[in-house]
Amino acid sequence: MTILQAGSATVVGQVRAANEDSHQVVDRLAVVADGMGGHRGGAVASATAVQAITSGSVGTLEELVAAVQQANRQVFDDARADADLRGMGTTVCLVGLVDHEGTDELAVLNVGDSRVYLLAAGVMEQLTEDHSLVETLVREGRLSPEDAEVHPQRNVLTRALGVDSAVAVDAWLLRPADGDRLLLCSDGLFNEVAEDRIAELLAEPDAPELVARRLCAEADAAGGRDNITVVVVDVAGAGNPPAPLVERYRRFSTPSVDLFGDDDGPRTDTVLAVVATGSPQGEAEPVPDPADPAPPVTAGPPEERGERAADAPEVGTEPSTPVVTGDTDGADRRSWWRVAAFAAALLAVAGLAVAAVTFVGRQGFFLDTEGDRVTVFAGQVWGRAWFAPEPVAPTGFSLDDLTENGRREVATRKRFNDVAEARNFVTGNTTTTTTTTTTTTTSTTTVPPPVVPPPPVVPVPPAVPPPPGP
Ligand code: MG
Repeated sequence: MTILQAGSATVVGQVRAANEDSHQVVDRLAVVADGMGGHRGGAVASATAVQAITSGSVGTLEELVAAVQQANRQVFDDARADADLRGMGTTVCLVGLVDHEGTDELAVLNVGDSRVYLLAAGVMEQLTEDHSLVETLVREGRLSPEDAEVHPQRNVLTRALGVDSAVAVDAWLLRPADGDRLLLCSDGLFNEVAEDRIAELLAEPDAPELVARRLCAEADAAGGRDNITVVVVDVAGAGNPPAPLVERYRRFSTPSVDLFGDDDGPRTDTVLAVVATGSPQGEAEPVPDPADPAPPVTAGPPEERGERAADAPEVGTEPSTPVVTGDTDGADRRSWWRVAAFAAALLAVAGLAVAAVTFVGRQGFFLDTEGDRVTVFAGQVWGRAWFAPEPVAPTGFSLDDLTENGRREVATRKRFNDVAEARNFVTGNTTTTTTTTTTTTTSTTTVPPPVVPPPPVVPVPPAVPPPPGP
């Protein structure tokens, strides 16, 4: 008989005033939720979801998915009923030991960006897919995984519990093997600690709780900019030898949808059917259409084909709640648009900030040397990167040609309103000059013109458009 042994830890971190993560480990089930939605809402949302999921009957994959749908409904209803909680939501990820056609299997469920990892035979792999903006961009090849790790919008979720009346739940079944160690965590862990290091700490041959506490402490020490929650689950007594993930991990439910609405494939949010085997990063097979009377083609064993879709209960379809069928598509898309609109607003604010910095960065002129020549630069002395100051007008003089005062002002980057003013200053401070009344607009100069005539003013080049995002 398969036995799970779990240990957990959570810390508030170095920055947050309160812990909005929740977690619970019961007999055959471990859940982690990361709440969001302001002062009170986040903690309420995650606690409500965890409580709703662990209090029901969760002996099968179908029941677990139904429990998550029910938790979604509860957070959604609570948020609408209390003005203080409006807008709250939560991620959730869980691992549950379930009975699947007479054998023990581990159900892995996920909504949001909390994660489940598996450490088996010394290798750690992520079992869940994040429902986040950056993860979507990575999957579409628009962003590299390295850039995603430091992307400023990496906290923007594309799916969460409590945002809409229905939610699509990602679900997998893992055939357990003796020696498996699972890790459930909120993003406070993997945003602070590199995956290599997480794997190293997870592989320590210590009790789950000790390992969980070490992982939390490491993330806390690395900055602790978010709440950190870790649950470590050890598998024993399964009687199965270790096997590659691709041979024992099957995906149920739907693949993640496209952020920009290109996802036209039929959905199976309400009907559980095997859609892919292997790692979550693998190519998903076509999703069967639940409305199609023909048995769906699945990757499961022959006796399973067609039967799963027909027999599976429509989760969340009790009389008092709306039937979650094709409407899930619309509901899911509405929440997508909400999230997309939020992301667009963030980008607009970031764009304005960039424009303001660019504007300031390009203001004014100062003197500096380019090579051995004193030159007028446009922009700010502190300018960097794409608004770095640009040389716009060589004066034809070297520092040696200038008076002591002239050299001092160049050294201190004296500022001018325009190029002519800057060049007048230089010509008025050369050692061959005895007075400072020279101007470029009149010919009434009282000194002989400099030996080297100043070259014409080079026009300021047009502004270079800022690169996308820092
Ligand atoms: Mg978090």
